[in-house]
Order: sequence, then C-alpha cells, then structure tokens
Amino acid sequence: MPLPSVAERFLRYVQIDTQSDPDSDTTPSTEKQKDLSRLLAEELKALGVDDAYMDDYGYVFGTIPSTLPAEQAAQSPVVALLAHVDTAPDESGTGVKPMVHVDYDGGILTLPGDPAVTLDPARQPALLDHLGHDIITSDGTTLLGSDDKAGVAVLMQLAEDLLNDRALPCPPLRLCFTIDEEIGRGVEKLDLGTLGADVAYTLDGSSTGTISSETFSAAEAVVTVEGVMVHPGYAKDVMVNALRIVAEMIAALPAAEAPETTAGREGYIHPHTLAASDVARAKVKLILRDFTEEGLQRHKDLVTHLVELFRLKYPKSVISLEITDQYKNMRAYIEETDLRVVTFAHAAAEAMGITLEEHLVRGGTDGSRLSERGLPTPNIFNGGHDYHSKFEWNTVQNLELSLAYTKALLAYWAENG
Ligand SMILES: [Zn+2]
Repeated sequence: MPLPSVAERFLRYVQIDTQSDPDSDTTPSTEKQKDLSRLLAEELKALGVDDAYMDDYGYVFGTIPSTLPAEQAAQSPVVALLAHVDTAPDESGTGVKPMVHVDYDGGILTLPGDPAVTLDPARQPALLDHLGHDIITSDGTTLLGSDDKAGVAVLMQLAEDLLNDRALPCPPLRLCFTIDEEIGRGVEKLDLGTLGADVAYTLDGSSTGTISSETFSAAEAVVTVEGVMVHPGYAKDVMVNALRIVAEMIAALPAAEAPETTAGREGYIHPHTLAASDVARAKVKLILRDFTEEGLQRHKDLVTHLVELFRLKYPKSVISLEITDQYKNMRAYIEETDLRVVTFAHAAAEAMGITLEEHLVRGGTDGSRLSERGLPTPNIFNGGHDYHSKFEWNTVQNLELSLAYTKALLAYWAENG
C-alpha cells in the first residue's frame, strides 16, 4: 500500500541527522542542520517556489503566491508558517530508521533495535486514541524526530499541493524553516523583515486538535546572603552562617508551589541554582512563573516578604534581592497585535468539525519570542507524541490531518483576512 506523500516526505526527512548542540556558540549550532535546510531549499525550487533560498545561518525562506485577485491580495495579511529542522540533544538523531506499524490494534509495540524500548498504552495512553492508525516510530535506538520534521513534511507537502492546485484558497504566504529551536535559539538570528509576515504559526505542537497561544509570564529572583565568617573555634555568638540562612529560606518556600507539584494553569517558585557558596556568602537563583501578571506579582511579593522576614531574623547578615522580568505570556502580545491569529485558527478547525483545545505552554517557545517582537505566532499541532525520546511517535493519519488543517487555516485567512 503506497503511503501518502506527506508521510513519504516525513520518512525521508527524519533520516537526515540535524541534532542541535547547546554547548556550541556557532549559528547554526551544528553545521549538519544545513544538510536538511539545503535540501528543503532545493526541493522548494524544484516545486516552483522560485525565490526559495537558504541564508548563511541555515534559515530557509520561500513564497507561495496568493490565489486572491491582485488587488485583494495586496490588502490581505501575509501569513507565515514555520517549522524547525533541528532535533533535540536529549537522544541521538544519528542513523534514524523510521518504521511504520500498520493498522494499530491497541497492543504493545516492540521496536526491533532495542527490546527494552516498547510503545505501551499503559505508559502512553494517547496511543489508544489512534486505533487503526499507521504508527510511525524509530527502530528504538534513536529518537524519531517528529519534533519537528512532522511540521517540515507538512509544510513541504503543502507547498507542492498549493502550487499544483490553484483552486485551494491561499492568502499571501511565506514558508520558513528554522534552526536550533531545541536549544532555545530558534529565532535569535531570524530577520523579521526578510520573513515579511503579519501573522504566523509554528507547526511544532503535538496532539492533533491543539493550539498553544499561552505561555508562562516569567521572572528571575536572585537572593544573596552575606554572613559573618570567623574561625569555628571562636564562633559562639559571632558567626553568621550564610549557608544555613539560604538553606532555611529554601525550606520556607511553599512546597505546593513548585514545578514538581504543579500543572496546568498553576504557577510556581523554583529555586534552581545555588552559586558557589560558603559561610561568608551564599547565593540562590530562583525562577518565578505564572500565566497571569497578578499571579506572577504574588510570587514576587512572597519572595520579597520572605527576604524581609529573614533580614529581621538575622540582623547581622546582609540579604539582598534582585528580581528581573524575563518574558510575558505570549497571549498579551498577541492581543496587542492581531488576535485573529487565534480566533481564525479556532474557526478554521470548527469548519472541519474539530474543536481546537488550548494547550498551555509551561515554558517559552519560538512563537513567544516572535510574538514579543511583534509577529503574533501561536503554535499548532503536527500530530506527534512523546517528543525528545526513543518512545516518540506520530501516525500517517495525524500527518494527513495536520496537512488538511493547515490548508483549511489558509483558506480561512484567504476568505476572511
Ligand atoms: Zn519542536
């Protein structure tokens, strides 16, 4: 049985090693990401995307002409669709051997490369929503790379389909493949002028039928404690041990507001690094996260009050606190620029009989950075699951649904933008 073209593309792209490297200072962090970027630029050109090219960093750009009459197209917002070529450093991406498990029956899937790696609905319950699907995995020795080669395959197939069938309504459209998303530097060197879009979507979400337009708002707090250091032999009533004070402060943080005890819409205070510390000086770094500004302020107030309390309790120590804002919930930026990027996404899904679910991002995304820079960019699904691991999977049918949804989304922008 021949596979649909989007799945065929996917199986081809996952075999190209594009792992990024957080320890590298270059852009892209690994030269091999360009192996896929270069291929995508060439394939786009062969499909008829005349302006397709890869820049020095490995970003690929291409334009799909609108099907709208020229005058209408000139008025229409330019939509950009993005996917990243790199795969996560967490697991090897060398020598990926993708496999298709036809007509899934709800059982345990064993992968031939490593008998210890199985896909088991007891651990991965989402599998049970995919009975009858053709499931794609690696052979168990590597990750699959559906994050985000599913997005890449969908966009490439989209380009081919849109150029072959001009009856598919299409707004002015820019395609963009990015690098280094997995190490948090995905759009650092991306020139928004070159991209030239008014609204954008990343195809980097997981479960079908999900959209992410909300991320945490984030701040960092650094607490430094200066103690009083003397010889332990003569320390009575003189020594003030900065280490003990910092340990006591960490223990006083609410245990129910930690990343390990919260989920969904709940925020947290997370002490994550103790700097090289001794009796004389100790320093702890914390991150504060919440989906609302009020919630974030509450976490800031809590840390501030705690520091004040400890100043009273240990008057001979000097305790300083520095709080820095890091980023805002991307929803705020989207509302400031063009909320249609979200409402149209929901409407296009409704038209297909899908209810899009908001998937809260408990972190930052490429889209949140783009939204902050003025390009509203929610994240939409590409169908994959269990990212960054050897247990990663997607399905032929999910890839097709992601492709169909992307077409419906573009049609909605063409007709209503
Ligand atoms: Zn991703």
